[in-house]
Amino acid sequence: MSFRLTYATMYNPPEAMHERFEAALARVEAGLGAQHRLFIDGVDRDAPRYALRHSPFDRELRLGEFGLAGDNDVQAAMCAAQAAGPAWRAMPVAERTRLLHRVGELLEERVYDIAAAMVLEVGKNRMEALGEAQETVDFFHHYADDFESHAGYNHVLPDDPVTGFASHNASVMRPYGVWVVIAPFNFPLALAGGPVAAALVTGNTVVLKGASDTPWAGRLLADCIRDAGLPPGVFNYLSGAGREIGEALAQHPLTAGITFTGSVPVGRHLMRQMAGGAYPRPCIAEMGGKNPCIVTERADLDRAAAGIVRSAYGMGGQKCSALSRLYVHESVADALIGRLHAQATAIRIGDPRRHENWLGPVVNATAYENYQHHADALRDAGANVLCGGARIGLGSGGRTALARGYYVEPMLAEVPLQHPLWQHEMFLPILTVHRYGDRDEAMRLANDSPMGLTAGFYGGADEVSWFHEHIEAGVTYANRPQGATTGAWPGYQPFGGWKGSGSSGKAIASFHYLAQYLREQSRTVVE
Ligand code: GLU
Repeated sequence: MSFRLTYATMYNPPEAMHERFEAALARVEAGLGAQHRLFIDGVDRDAPRYALRHSPFDRELRLGEFGLAGDNDVQAAMCAAQAAGPAWRAMPVAERTRLLHRVGELLEERVYDIAAAMVLEVGKNRMEALGEAQETVDFFHHYADDFESHAGYNHVLPDDPVTGFASHNASVMRPYGVWVVIAPFNFPLALAGGPVAAALVTGNTVVLKGASDTPWAGRLLADCIRDAGLPPGVFNYLSGAGREIGEALAQHPLTAGITFTGSVPVGRHLMRQMAGGAYPRPCIAEMGGKNPCIVTERADLDRAAAGIVRSAYGMGGQKCSALSRLYVHESVADALIGRLHAQATAIRIGDPRRHENWLGPVVNATAYENYQHHADALRDAGANVLCGGARIGLGSGGRTALARGYYVEPMLAEVPLQHPLWQHEMFLPILTVHRYGDRDEAMRLANDSPMGLTAGFYGGADEVSWFHEHIEAGVTYANRPQGATTGAWPGYQPFGGWKGSGSSGKAIASFHYLAQYLREQSRTVVE
């Protein structure tokens, strides 16, 4: 069976998909405990040190030992990428895109094994993991096709009559050099693979740093790139501590540009770093979200409830795109909240290797602590907790099947508007609710945030244009049951944040995205 994830298979997977996933899981589990090296200048390289990592759903399940790159590895990767640059950018575009399509094919061949590793490493459920792996496949093909179909974004311009000689003019888009990609833990494959594909196809060479919590997914991507036969040094992979390696990469004199996906403080720090130095260099920072959804009295409440639950609680709210603020018209609030309560309390929480479990653990001990802290803060502030609010894994004295992982309950609470958690990105399955009386008040509240990534709307068809006109968000969804604010797909939903959520105003996989990896050279030649 060839793998093609659609919304239908995502929510109602055929049995054959489960069988293939389970066979892959068995294969991947048989190899647990292995050592995972760095990849520099076309070869797998030993790291000076290794860290033993465990699964977030079972603190006793050893995933393997992952390389901790040191200064010498950063230096070696940067130099290899720099040295590989001239030949890579001189390579005919058709040859470069052929290699990127080959990476996409290899990812697709391995999609089940890669998804199984992500279930073990991140704790996402199998359909989320398969979705992410497939999205990564699509990124490679999408950017390769995009670059070819736009002729490298080059333009021949009219001859200039002013000189009096025949003069030929052109705008030629050229790569910057060594591009650093820093991936996040929550989409460790797709948000590594997407920017890597974009940087490579445009002729840059790449050093990828995997997320500190999820180095395995990046290493599996590196395997596909190695096996696709890209020339040595064109792509390099480092794993290790974010603070040390990220900082060393940002400060490195050979770094020509960075794509970072992660938190606002780190993103802003990198933007400052890249603005300084000998001269400013580009930094594409995709940062957080504090994403709202507005439900009016004309909404289809069944559709709204389905989309809201998927977006607020899918992957434990650990998506930049997750829904965290809900504004519902007072006339339908009880009816909607009743549906949300029923669905949230019915969510199957547990070992994400099992297909019946929809919600796995949060990613690490810090997230697990933060959940308790935020749930207590909401309760103490007089929130009306409608469901959830308890940790049910490690150390909670709770259900034994969950006792080795960082499991928490999906939480739904009506929260006073002045509470600071309306403004703070939690990255957890906590949805705060407010009942509004006036639609414009709901819009004002939805926009009352320094973030502007995704936003959802459920209401009448003739209200949608009002939503689009006024909402301050880069990615919007109206009346969508598959997700109120989540689930963008390359080629269909360009994905990028406004305001504090993104640095560039250019969305991932949009027509404008690749141009960010290029600088324009105006060429005039007089005969
Ligand atoms: N592309 C994902 C989605 O649309 C979100 C990526 C992220 O959270 O960073 O849900």
